Amino acid sequence: MRRREVERYRSVLESQLVALVGHGEQAVHEMSGTGGEEIPDPNDRATVEEGRNWSLRLRDRDRKLIGKIEEALARLDAGTFGKCSACGAAISPARLRVRPVTDLCIACKTESEQTERRGRL
Ligand SMILES: [Zn+2]
Repeated sequence: MRRREVERYRSVLESQLVALVGHGEQAVHEMSGTGGEEIPDPNDRATVEEGRNWSLRLRDRDRKLIGKIEEALARLDAGTFGKCSACGAAISPARLRVRPVTDLCIACKTESEQTERRGRL
């Protein structure tokens, strides 16, 4: 991969990381804002609980994505970015543009999804 491409993917990944981390801090802030407050109406309480569960779920998903972005940045440093971790083939640039955190080519990704589906049945 050319140096210019590496730098482009790095800036895409880093801006995604900054956006996610900023988002996480905001969620923590919002949660501490509602903590310990008395809510007399049970309907209001349910709404707050729902909102809290939602932001926890969101943060769990964000945490996983943050981990994937950090792995992708490490692969950029190691020079293995854009190579399939399963078969070693080059991942197509079109796929990398849509999902720069991916470490599987489309063939291996499809196969792993099929294996997963079979495993669940
Ligand atoms: Zn592959």
